[in-house]
Amino acid sequence: FPSSIAVLTTLFRGVGGGGVRGCPPPAPRVVRTPGGVRSEDLPARADVPTVSEGLAAGGEQEGRKRLTAWLARGVDSYEERHDDLAGDATSRLSPYLHFGAVSAAEAVHRARARGGAGAEAFVRQLCWRDFHHQVLAARPDAASDDYRTRHDRWRRGKEAEADLRAWREGRTGYPVVDAAMRQLAHEGWMHNRGRLLTASFLTKTLYIDWREGARHFLELLVDGDVANNQLNWQWMAGTGTDSRPNRVLNPVTQAKRYDPEGAYVRRWVPELAGLEGPAVHEPWKLPGRQRARYDYPDPMVELADGLARFRRARGQD
Ligand SMILES: Cc1cc2nc3c(=O)[nH]c(=O)nc-3n(C[C@H](O)[C@H](O)[C@H](O)COP(=O)(O)OP(=O)(O)OC[C@H]3O[C@@H](n4cnc5c(N)ncnc54)[C@H](O)[C@@H]3O)c2cc1C
Repeated sequence: FPSSIAVLTTLFRGVGGGGVRGCPPPAPRVVRTPGGVRSEDLPARADVPTVSEGLAAGGEQEGRKRLTAWLARGVDSYEERHDDLAGDATSRLSPYLHFGAVSAAEAVHRARARGGAGAEAFVRQLCWRDFHHQVLAARPDAASDDYRTRHDRWRRGKEAEADLRAWREGRTGYPVVDAAMRQLAHEGWMHNRGRLLTASFLTKTLYIDWREGARHFLELLVDGDVANNQLNWQWMAGTGTDSRPNRVLNPVTQAKRYDPEGAYVRRWVPELAGLEGPAVHEPWKLPGRQRARYDYPDPMVELADGLARFRRARGQD
C-alpha cells in the first residue's frame, strides 16, 4: 500500500502544471487510498495474456479510429457474419466501450447515420450492453447472486474442481470449447459465440456454478465488465433474464453451424491442425489408428450424460 502511493506520486509528478483558468486543476501530489486496501505487485508481462492483434493500443484516438474503420468496412456484413467464429467479423470495440474510450451513444449515432441492416444489427447488440447495465443498476445483488434462482445445487468437490480446471485450460475434449478457452487465455478476448457455448458447457453440461466461470472470464477478458459478464453468464446459466432458462447449447452442433470448415478450431487447437474440414469437430469418431496420431483428450463427459444430469438437477425428468 505505501508503495502504491509512491508509484502514484511519481506518476502524478510531471503531469502537474495547470492551475490556469480553463485548464484542469493540478494533479494531486499524493493520493490517499482507503484504509485496509492492500496493493499487489504488478504482474510480470509473461503473466498477462497477449492482447489481440490490433487491440494492443488503447485510448480514445485508437478507439475512434477503430469505430470509423468498422463503420466503413465491417458493419455492412455484420448481420450475416457476426456468428462466424473463424471470420472474426465483429467490431472488437468492447474494450474501448468498457473503458469509456468510445461512447456507446456516439457508436449508435454514427451507425444509424450510416444505415443498413448490418448497422441496425450492430445497434441491437449495443442495446444488450445497456440492458445489462440497467438490470445491474436495479439489482446490484445480481453481480454475485442469482437474478432469478432455480435453486441449483451446483456440483462441488474434487471431481467438479478437476472438471473446472480442464475447462479453464481448454482440454475438455470438445474442440470448439477448447478453441474458445484457449483464445481467451491467449488474447484476453473471446468471440461472443464462443462465450455462449463455453458458458453453456460449464453451467449445463458440467453443471458447475456460473460464478466460477464468470470469475475466470473477468480475470482474463480485456473487456471484462461486471454488468455484461455476470448477466450474460446468468443468461446462459438460466438464472438470469433468459426466457428459456433450460436451453443447452450442443457444442458439436454449434461448431458445425458456426465453424463449418473447422478453421477456428484448427487455429486454436494446433494438435488437431492436421484434420481437414469439419472432421476436426469430432476427433473421437476417427478410426483407432488415425485417432491415436492426435495428442488430444477424449471428451471429458458424454453430452447425453451431461444433459441428463442437468435435467435431473432442474427437476425436468
Ligand atoms: C458468458 C458471456 C460473458 C460476456 N462477458 C462480457 C464482458 O465481460 N464484457 C463485455 O463487454 N461483453 C461481454 N459479453 C458480451 C459479448 O460477448 C461481447 O460484448 C462481444 O463479444 C464483444 O466483441 P465485439 O466488440 O466484437 O462485439 P460486437 O458483436 O461488435 O458488438 C458490439 C458491441 O455490442 C455490445 N454487445 C454485443 N453483444 C453483447 C451482449 N451479449 N451483451 C452485452 N453487450 C453486448 C458490446 O459492447 C460490443 O462491443 C459476454 C457474453 C457472454 C455470453
